[in-house]
Amino acid sequence: MYTVLIKGGEVFDGSGREAFRADIALQGDKIAAIGEQLKEPAELVVDADGLAVAPGFIDIHTHTDATIFSCPMSTSKLLQGVTSEVIGSCGVGAFPVHPSYRGELLEYLKIHGFSFPAQGVTWEDLTGYAAELGKLKLGTNLLPQVAHGALRGAVVGFGAQKPTAAMQAQMEQLLALAMEQGAWGMSAGLIYPPGSFADTEELIGLARVIKDYDGLFSIHIRGESQTLRQSLDEAIGIARESGARVQISHLKAMGRTQWGMGRECLELLQRSREAGVDIAADQYPYEASSTSLTALVPQWAHSGGVARLLERLDDPDLVANIKEEIGREINMRGGAERIRITALASPKNREAALGKSLAQIAAAWNLSPEETVVRLLKEEKGVVNAVYFSMDPEDVKTILSDENVGVGSDGSGMAREKGKTTHPRSFGTFARVIGPCVREGILPLELAIYKMTGLNARRLGLTDRGLLRPGLAADLTVFDPAAVCDRADFLDPQQYPVGIEYVFVNGELAVRRGALTGAAAGRVLLKKP
Ligand SMILES: [Zn+2]
Repeated sequence: MYTVLIKGGEVFDGSGREAFRADIALQGDKIAAIGEQLKEPAELVVDADGLAVAPGFIDIHTHTDATIFSCPMSTSKLLQGVTSEVIGSCGVGAFPVHPSYRGELLEYLKIHGFSFPAQGVTWEDLTGYAAELGKLKLGTNLLPQVAHGALRGAVVGFGAQKPTAAMQAQMEQLLALAMEQGAWGMSAGLIYPPGSFADTEELIGLARVIKDYDGLFSIHIRGESQTLRQSLDEAIGIARESGARVQISHLKAMGRTQWGMGRECLELLQRSREAGVDIAADQYPYEASSTSLTALVPQWAHSGGVARLLERLDDPDLVANIKEEIGREINMRGGAERIRITALASPKNREAALGKSLAQIAAAWNLSPEETVVRLLKEEKGVVNAVYFSMDPEDVKTILSDENVGVGSDGSGMAREKGKTTHPRSFGTFARVIGPCVREGILPLELAIYKMTGLNARRLGLTDRGLLRPGLAADLTVFDPAAVCDRADFLDPQQYPVGIEYVFVNGELAVRRGALTGAAAGRVLLKKP
């Protein structure tokens, strides 16, 4: 007797091949059989006639570790059919922790929207962190990466200092320890301090360790606008020099001067692969990015952390230069009307700024856009989030149609919360790709599914998920291909998708008819060394 029998669906097995009609049987947390007209009875029978059956989606780029202690079910992901999430992205993550730099680490995580368990950060390494995550009732499987920012912070501190040879060796040792403990690789965020202070040489040294453990090095590259080309070249160089598998995170061409570069980026990566470099990318399917408003502030002004940044914003000798550079950055990203404030804390500014564009706020305050940014950052102590509509829709489509670019939301798992603004990618990414993007003809459904299952699993070295095969883990998503659709948009981003009918996580039914069943079957997945 099977535990579950999914009958008569169109099976997309995650390999990219065309769908075929079959029944799928689950036994416990594994796929037991795939075939025509499976006869054995089952405790639960799901009629999938007219529905698509796919491996559970693997979100290869998330910030769900920021929200996991407040939303362990990762509701917005699970309801999209996501069953596994890679955490610790963009160089931002919660381990390793060195006692001397704990305060600065917490401050840096807070800027990136992290919440923590009531007892605080009690862990020091991945083993301790994974144990803490394991106490939660998790909705999805979590795959931790080492965050380069946290790693560097634990050894060098959070300032701009170049590591000494001894510090470099110590970072490499700590990274190796985390890989021994089951990390899937490392992420770097080369626009966010302290990761932005790392030079290429430092990163190559660390990438060699990742290579030794056959992990993935995910890089949020140093520049996604004017310096896009040289930033891609840096990442390709790191992959070539180290031999590590490298993933360009959220590939995009940002800012007016770069519009139309999507094709060129893909060709550059393709040529590198043909030359033997193991490099690919992931992407979220939106024309706007979302990050801290501090991303508009020049790098040098960040050195020493948020407290120092706020001091500089108060320093009359420095603030003129900072404003000038902010102004240039705003223009480059497409203008003040293309930047919208999505999160800040103080009630007064929520009223004045939340959901509005920088241009609107500036007009209301009778300030220039750059003065508006400085005022917001000062009043909110640096904690302001914004979305930047700085991509060309055609580039987004071009990149989305590429078979070597996986789907990754760059978002975090959340439950719908009244009055909260965020980027819609946390609620809509996967349904948007398999729904509207497929129906628009940007890519065929089997390719869309491959890009969120088989491809992502292969990049990660995750061998027991991402495909529908007997013996593999029973993570499955069953959806209505005609109806599936994202509903989250920039005005109302916290909306769950429609058309995701059933989601199984480790063999347990977690979503039924588009609603959570209450089953919390997610696990912390660690890479076997
Ligand atoms: Zn990033």
